[in-house]
Amino acid sequence: MEQKTAYLVDFDGTITTRDLSSELAAYYGGNEYMKIENEYRRRNIPIKIWLRRIARHLPPDLKLLETKALQWADIRPGFERFLEHARENDSPVIVASDGFGFYIEPIFEEKGFLSKVSRIYRNETYESPQGLKIKNPHAHRICEVCGNCKAAHVVGLKEEGYSVIYIGDGSNDRFGASWSDFICARDSLAKICREQNFNYSQWIDFYDIIKVKKPESYDRSLISLCCPLGDGVK
Ligand SMILES: [Mg+2]
Repeated sequence: MEQKTAYLVDFDGTITTRDLSSELAAYYGGNEYMKIENEYRRRNIPIKIWLRRIARHLPPDLKLLETKALQWADIRPGFERFLEHARENDSPVIVASDGFGFYIEPIFEEKGFLSKVSRIYRNETYESPQGLKIKNPHAHRICEVCGNCKAAHVVGLKEEGYSVIYIGDGSNDRFGASWSDFICARDSLAKICREQNFNYSQWIDFYDIIKVKKPESYDRSLISLCCPLGDGVK
């Protein structure tokens, strides 16, 4: 029997051309954003801490932030055709984001995509008297690197019997990608795949993803960058 395939797709900078969490951070955070961003780029802080620190500099007004995100949301070419292709092939599309995430459903709703994705795993951003706060319902139980453990989502899909195609752009996608059966990478993720000697396919838009053949599922536990079922990052 032919193996079923699932797509694990990052949101910011992958489905959208711009990283909306970074754009909101830069817009409202100014110099404070640059300090936090530089710490992150030097790998002094993980993405989970990046998000929490940035949240302090955003106005605690989700309606306002959602309006900005909807204004700035530009969907990468071919995404709608990709969703149709996935449905024709009975391949679920799972979206996983380690950004603020609150804008994903409103953007999908506006563009008509919401019913076409199977699952959305994202952080929860909420207003509190102390300002904007983050909850990480999909974090690893002890690992402090990712707010949303995309590696666990990939491993979970493999346990459900799927081979997994990972589609991403950011450095933090490396953990989930390292567990997948085929990596479609651009930007920072592509650079890391080269450094790690991971096989990957460079992609520009979702028409490139449609051309990718279904991979076989195989065990990645020895070369993966973290242990989602163990203690997290290696
Ligand atoms: Mg991204």
